[in-house]
Amino acid sequence: MKIISSQQGPYLTIGTKKYLNLCSNNYLGLAGDQRLKDAAISAIGKYGVGTASVRALVGTNDLHVELERKLAAFKKTEECLVLTSGYLANLAAVQTFLDKEDIVVSDELNHASIIDAVKLAQVENKFIYKHNDIHDLENKFDDICLIRNKPKSTGDKRKVLVVTDGVFSMDGDVAKLPELVEVCKGAMEFSIMVDDAHGEGVLGSHGRGIVDHFELHGQVDIEVGTLSKAFGVLGGFICGSKEIIENLKARARQFLFTNALSIPDTAALIAAVDILQESDELVKKLWTNADLLKKGLKESGFDIGVSTTPITPIMVGDEELAVKFSEELFEEGILVSAIKFPMVAKGKARLRLIPSASHEIKDLEMGMEKIVKVGKSLKVI
Ligand SMILES: *Cc1c(COP(=O)(O)O)cnc(C)c1O
Repeated sequence: MKIISSQQGPYLTIGTKKYLNLCSNNYLGLAGDQRLKDAAISAIGKYGVGTASVRALVGTNDLHVELERKLAAFKKTEECLVLTSGYLANLAAVQTFLDKEDIVVSDELNHASIIDAVKLAQVENKFIYKHNDIHDLENKFDDICLIRNKPKSTGDKRKVLVVTDGVFSMDGDVAKLPELVEVCKGAMEFSIMVDDAHGEGVLGSHGRGIVDHFELHGQVDIEVGTLSKAFGVLGGFICGSKEIIENLKARARQFLFTNALSIPDTAALIAAVDILQESDELVKKLWTNADLLKKGLKESGFDIGVSTTPITPIMVGDEELAVKFSEELFEEGILVSAIKFPMVAKGKARLRLIPSASHEIKDLEMGMEKIVKVGKSLKVI
């Protein structure tokens, strides 16, 4: 691991050198935003730093309640529960909503935390459909319904939960949520869960995420998000109906048996949600930067894959070549991570660039110049 000794921003200090940072998930630049820092510092003055207990035991801090209320309003859902990571939010959502006799249906490229969540929930009936392939999903409906029609040992009806990432983190493509809702709701009455980790702060008006982007409010039962990417701090959350959130508060082990978000984290996050609620300036700047980067790389001859979001892969193929590309860029002062097996399939190695609203045009132009230089010398283009 490289040792970073500066705040997250367009440039990072590693050792004695400054590097252009083209790979953090700090989409909106909020990780180093003065308003978030001020909110954290002033909350520490009033409340200290730690919460010193799980919320359900001693009591919940009013900052947690405020953050949840503001997040629910921002996402236009009934209620919200905040946890200490997006990873835990996925575990909590799946494990609490389903028991082992229920049915889960998952996109083959879903995030590792969803895969772990399904394992933890010990769901016996698992269906995996081809990536973003609604036709393949529909082909499984007969088998799903065959199982569903048999009641559980308790006599209850089996639930069916269809789970997908909103934005797929390695390719930057977006789940076909409108089609998914169309085939899974209505007669089928399946429940839908979307993990919007790379959609929050990116898609939809003011960065409200994928549900807002497709105007599907009220159609997706469980929205999981992270507070560790565009929101710039740390944590995860689950948005949904009052019933779903109350059930989580009563039963989710990831809520009941582990501590709450710290005071500075929570206060900074309230500031982040306020900033997004008030203005879409940062989201617009992110997209302007992403468009500039993608257009520049494409025109230089790189294969930038199928992304329709700021996630910008440079497809390389060969594992060693991708690593070499990343290492030579580092020598040139550019930080870009190489992504290889097992994060993506063998032979699909790539660089993955993520621009931020904190970059200026000159930063991106300098970065692209170096990427083209190294890309040519390694014959990627
Ligand atoms: C990053 C990510 C997570 C995990 O979020 P953390 O807050 O870092 O735990 C979950 N799901 C997806 C799709 C992610 O990209």
